[in-house]
Amino acid sequence: MYQDLYAKVAIVTGASSGIGAGIAERLGKEGMSVVINYHSDDKAAKLVAETVEKAGGKAVIYRGDISDEKHASQVIDFAVETFGQLDLLVNNAGIEIQKPSHEVELDDWKKVIDVNLTGFFLTSKAAIHYFLKHKIKGSIINMSSVHEIIPWPTFASYAASKGGVRMLTKSLALEYAPHGIRINNIGPGAIETPINKEKLTDKAKLASLQKMIPMARVGKTDDIANAVAWLASSQAAYITGITLFIDGGMTLYPSFQGGEG
Ligand code: NAD
Repeated sequence: MYQDLYAKVAIVTGASSGIGAGIAERLGKEGMSVVINYHSDDKAAKLVAETVEKAGGKAVIYRGDISDEKHASQVIDFAVETFGQLDLLVNNAGIEIQKPSHEVELDDWKKVIDVNLTGFFLTSKAAIHYFLKHKIKGSIINMSSVHEIIPWPTFASYAASKGGVRMLTKSLALEYAPHGIRINNIGPGAIETPINKEKLTDKAKLASLQKMIPMARVGKTDDIANAVAWLASSQAAYITGITLFIDGGMTLYPSFQGGEG
């Protein structure tokens, strides 16, 4: 538990499912007030809100597409109107589309970049505007991926979006450090969520995935949520512009593990 997080206000985008839902619950345990942003599943978002409240926090849900500039800025206003302030923005909403790159339609490419990169920029822009106006030393945590540095054939739009998030984070961190605003990335490896359900339920696919993880297990949403709470807390007050990989060693070139090469 991080006492300085108590009664602070957070927005978690894409919090109706997977990693975002886990982060919302963890922030609830810290006694935070959490805005649960989501795209379309009202029922799932309400369930997450109940979980946050059971954990000890306050929660409201906010339906909105973060790749739409109007919604991205409205979610910031909504948090402030509802809870009186904003201290933490967790940009987590994300999508992926798999296809051989030479067959990808422009609309699919744009969709992934719009949500995973432009959406992060739009919410960050609105949050930073608010932090500066009210002289708040706020924090932004972006959910990137190991694919901000590991190439991913047939997922080029996803890897390009996360590579973009890496430089978005570093550029914004440098720009707003003088104001005490911290901006960091978390780079998950393979985490058990609906986004990769198909891979994790197929025994052969799971076995080949595990070979790429030196710690030989797929991560849990708690592995990510615990790090978000720490990175948001004053324990991490001197950290900005980093990517914290949480991947069981996936970024350590696992194929060299036995001394090959
Ligand atoms: P998920 O599919 O379970 O959840 C995605 C969430 O994003 C949902 O709540 C959905 O409603 C929301 N969303 C999608 N488009 C949106 C939009 N336009 N506006 C608002 N919300 C939108 O996925 P997840 O696995 O929990 O992934 C969460 C984040 O973590 C993503 O950014 C993903 O790229 C990243 N990530 C996941 C893994 C993994 O293994 N699960 C690994 C690395 C990175």
